[in-house]
Amino acid sequence: MSAFVLQIQDLDESGKDWNFAIGRDWLASALADTELGPGSQDGRLQVHAQRSGMDVLVQGHITSRLAATCARCLEDVALDIDLAMTALFSPEHTRPDDSQEIDVRLDEVNRDYYGGREIVLDPMVREYLLLEAPMKPLCSEDCEGIAVPEHLRPPAEVFGDAAPDARFAPLLKLKEELTKNEE
Ligand SMILES: [Zn+2]
Repeated sequence: MSAFVLQIQDLDESGKDWNFAIGRDWLASALADTELGPGSQDGRLQVHAQRSGMDVLVQGHITSRLAATCARCLEDVALDIDLAMTALFSPEHTRPDDSQEIDVRLDEVNRDYYGGREIVLDPMVREYLLLEAPMKPLCSEDCEGIAVPEHLRPPAEVFGDAAPDARFAPLLKLKEELTKNEE
C-alpha cells in the first residue's frame, strides 16, 4: 500500500506542507529486491506541494537511515541519507508514449505522472533512496576487508617482490647482453 499520497483536492497554488514518517516496514518492502534494508530508526519525508494548473510541483526533503553491507568486510553499515527531492507531476494523459519508467536524477526537477485524484510519491522516494545509496558501501574508507587466515595465504613468492626465480637467470643474463650490445 502506498504510504506517501497527496490528494489533488488538498492542493492549491500557494502550496501546502506534509510530513510523513518513512517507516521501517515501508523501507523493508520498498527495498526488498535490493541489497539495502531498513536501518535502526524511521526516516522522514517532508513535502511542500504546489499546484499550477494541472501540474503539481513537489519539493521534498528525505532523511532516512538504511542498513547496507560493507562491500569489503561484509559487516553491517548504517547509511544516513539526507537529500532534497524535486519533482513535477503532470496528469497521466500527458505522459509521452516513450516514458514508462521514472528516470530520477539528483539536483534536477524530475518528471512523473499521476492518474486519478491523487499523487503517489512512493516510487519517487524509492528511486531517490537507491540513487543516493552508494553502489559499494564501505564501513570506513580504509576498511581492509576480510583478513585472510595465515594458512590460506599464498606463499610470498607468488607476488613479485621476492627474488627472481633461479630458472630465469639465463634469460636475465641474455637480456643484459642484448642491452649492452645496443649501447
Ligand atoms: Zn568494512
